[in-house]
Amino acid sequence: MSKTKKIAVISGDGIGPEVVAEAIKVMKRSEEMFGLSFEFEHGLFGGIAIDEKGTPLPQETLDMCQKADAVLLGAVGGPKWDNNPQATRPETGLLGIRKALNLYANIRPAFIFDCLKEASTLKPEVLEGTDLLVVRELTGGIYFGDKFRRETEQGQEAVDTCVYNVMEIERIARQAFEIARTRSKKVASVDKANVLETSRLWRETVVRVAADYPDVELEHVLVDNCAMQLLRRPSSFDVIVTENMFGDIISDEAAMLTGSIGMLSSASLGDGAFGLYEPVHGSAPDIAGKGIANPIATIMSVALMYRLTFGYHEAADCIDNAVKEVLDAGHRTADIAVDKSKAISTTAMGELILAAMKK
Ligand code: NAD
Repeated sequence: MSKTKKIAVISGDGIGPEVVAEAIKVMKRSEEMFGLSFEFEHGLFGGIAIDEKGTPLPQETLDMCQKADAVLLGAVGGPKWDNNPQATRPETGLLGIRKALNLYANIRPAFIFDCLKEASTLKPEVLEGTDLLVVRELTGGIYFGDKFRRETEQGQEAVDTCVYNVMEIERIARQAFEIARTRSKKVASVDKANVLETSRLWRETVVRVAADYPDVELEHVLVDNCAMQLLRRPSSFDVIVTENMFGDIISDEAAMLTGSIGMLSSASLGDGAFGLYEPVHGSAPDIAGKGIANPIATIMSVALMYRLTFGYHEAADCIDNAVKEVLDAGHRTADIAVDKSKAISTTAMGELILAAMKK
């Protein structure tokens, strides 16, 4: 039996609790199968925390996450809180938890299950072989720089400042090169070095870090070109590393190659093994409470946690293989079903994946 790992569970709002429940069942099954041991602690986060504690990120939830080995997050938000002031919006909790836990690297794999190619808006032959991973810088750049408005003779002017320092670029570049070593040893660094000073520093720094990884091939791609190439030749990318705002846009574009947001997992990492794992999708208020959400993104986030935080590769493969087997057998939740009348529920999908988990 391996040492007990503490998992902070923050299910959040909408479909968050529904999909997290299935992911926890998968973790419990893998405890039995692989001699793993987890201790789950649950905390309030997002809209539900605003209702019960008056803040999206209560201090006790943050303390619980800081003491944990990894965090499993569902999703936050919903129309009920959309008109709240900034401080009491669920999304403010998301930015707050990333910053407080120093989670500066967001990792999003995007790959195509053969049997789901039809669900994408791109032609199957363009998607063939697509298996990429975006490493996005998460705590710097224009989202965190000074923002203000001022009066000018031409009327109001708004300013957003983009700032990056060498340390911030170096650490995200290292994450990308380390991950590339576990994959096909290719990194595409995405910037706008023909125009932006922050991008020129980004490129210089990435080149310097690359010298420590001579086994990894590095290419530089301008962000506008990257946006095009992702649609034209997605399979030519492996690891893409980029700054915060470019990564926000590029990772959503890459995500949509796969057809459904209900299939995509993500990790947010800092220094060391600790990480926060969550599906890419939001709280889906339109389907919350109906029992029809796709739990696969959250279940595959557990596989990412096993790989990136705990090094439980065998258990991670077991989960990914079980998901593939269930999809290959034709089982679909409504978001990925061609024939919606045959779609199965959240819990039915969870049960099928549990049954398909084999050593
Ligand atoms: P969303 O991802 O919640 O939903 C977009 C569409 O995808 C909806 O039609 C929804 O039904 C569908 N969908 C999403 N996940 C699904 C799943 N697992 N299975 C089946 N269908 C699924 O995005 P949105 O509607 O723009 O946002 C809803 C709320 O979620 C907002 O309050 C937003 O701020 C929040 N949000 C939170 C996060 C997060 O917690 N990290 C991320 C994105 C959006």
